Amino acid sequence: MSEPWLRIKAVLEAQGFIPAGDVNEDRYVGALKSGSVSVKVEVTIEDYDFLVLPRVKVLDRQALPKAIRGHLTEGDYLCYADRETFLLDRYQPDRSILTVLDRARDTLNILLHGNPARDIAAELFAYWGGVPHAFIDSPRTMTRATLGSVSFRNGYVLRVVASTPERMKSWAAAGNATCEVAGSIPVLQCTGHILPPEAAIETFADALSWAQGQQGAPGGIAELAISASDTAPGLFLVGDNGVLGFQAIANPTLNIAAKRGFRTSKRGALWLTEKDKLKIERLRGVPADHDEIVARNLAGVAPLSGKRIALIGCGTVGSYLARGLVQNGAGQRASLLLIDPDIFAPGNIGRHLLGARYIGRNKAEAMVEALRHDFPDVEIEAVTRSAATCFSRLAGFDLVVDATGSEQFSDALNGWALASRNAGRACPPILYACLHGNGIAAQTFLATGRAGDACFRCQRPLFEQSWRYPVVQGPYETPNVAVRPCGEGAFVPFAVDATMMAAALALRHAIDAVSQNGRPTFRMRAVDASKARHQNDRTVERSEKCPACSPLVH
Ligand SMILES: [Zn+2]
Repeated sequence: MSEPWLRIKAVLEAQGFIPAGDVNEDRYVGALKSGSVSVKVEVTIEDYDFLVLPRVKVLDRQALPKAIRGHLTEGDYLCYADRETFLLDRYQPDRSILTVLDRARDTLNILLHGNPARDIAAELFAYWGGVPHAFIDSPRTMTRATLGSVSFRNGYVLRVVASTPERMKSWAAAGNATCEVAGSIPVLQCTGHILPPEAAIETFADALSWAQGQQGAPGGIAELAISASDTAPGLFLVGDNGVLGFQAIANPTLNIAAKRGFRTSKRGALWLTEKDKLKIERLRGVPADHDEIVARNLAGVAPLSGKRIALIGCGTVGSYLARGLVQNGAGQRASLLLIDPDIFAPGNIGRHLLGARYIGRNKAEAMVEALRHDFPDVEIEAVTRSAATCFSRLAGFDLVVDATGSEQFSDALNGWALASRNAGRACPPILYACLHGNGIAAQTFLATGRAGDACFRCQRPLFEQSWRYPVVQGPYETPNVAVRPCGEGAFVPFAVDATMMAAALALRHAIDAVSQNGRPTFRMRAVDASKARHQNDRTVERSEKCPACSPLVH
């Protein structure tokens, strides 16, 4: 089999293409036919692994309609494939390059013979480009956009748009960053989609007349963009297809006027008279509000949004679980409570989400701080006492998750829950997440509180006997405990893969518990299949031998 570049060369030459690059560059020029029209193109292959797609540049732009269409990016390159879903086989380079030509031909067809409106609207963003601006508030709610820069501790500067300067400052502070507010420009709320321009936009005047032509635009857009901006005049356009914007760039005439101390109103008139000569900076809105960040991977709805969740235990399983809960909407429109009395110690680092910078801090507080830095809008609170001293605080939650991994504690929590229900008080369902053996199997159990469903203790009515549904083979049931002489005390050694599996299992179960009924209530996953004892997921019934919930025992 010959070299990839030779195979591609042979295929392209058979298609009438001729090499156009120098020795080190694989560039070919040829024609693609669409109906009776032949369009001259240049194909460049930069990468035979196809991590960079072959580029197809239209050489005779005049062969295409004058109006700006989709599928053609800056520099007249054909936008013929979606990088996320388009695969080219590096082992069949000849076939791959033919696929590229086919797709390019299809794209030319669309350009020449009609382009569905939705395609144009989608491609508008590729055409526009623009400097990305992270919108930390929902663009659809805004009439003015405050622009600024947020500098993070690592030195990265993010261009940000917020509804007000105060909002930008508090967001930056929550994210442990500083911010500089540049000023604000008005926001045009378009009805439906932002419509693409009819012709290329070069000047401030072009951009203003494009904005004026949008559906839902009030009269006098140019005057609005100038009078309502307290920085370089501009406008954000918000449509169902996204957010685009522009700002005028001052020319020497305006700069001289500014130096001479012209009053703002006078200078405003100057922006208007100079508008045909002014270049623009193109802006692009990137959704970065908490709702959007959380929901974008979750088919539109974050399942834990608006649910009050209390997580007991911010150790190894709890730390990974806490982050996962936030990423599924916990702490959004309802507070997330993290409870742990322990101090984060050097020995924890090996399997905890947090690292050395949190040593010496209370685990719940450290997790709250870390999550606030990562998700500045999350509503989250720490309790630094043992949950056993404040069980009554748990009553108002939609779900309590016990990730302590301590059977002794879980037994006490279960006792409180049963007593609450017996006394007719509200008590949320409780999800228990733990690892068995030395991290051999992860297991979750949901105590729903419904009649007939097991309580936590129903799983193991007598401590001297085994679990009703043991998830670890006999010899490994009792974990080996390591005692270190350094004063850290005893702990059960297991690796972080067990932690992550338990956290993942608990996260899925927590979502099911608040959005469905949490059944099956008992779930297990083997971490070490050679030592685990497989049990099917099941809904566990009450045990008549249970000392906690069975009236027969008392
Ligand atoms: Zn029970």
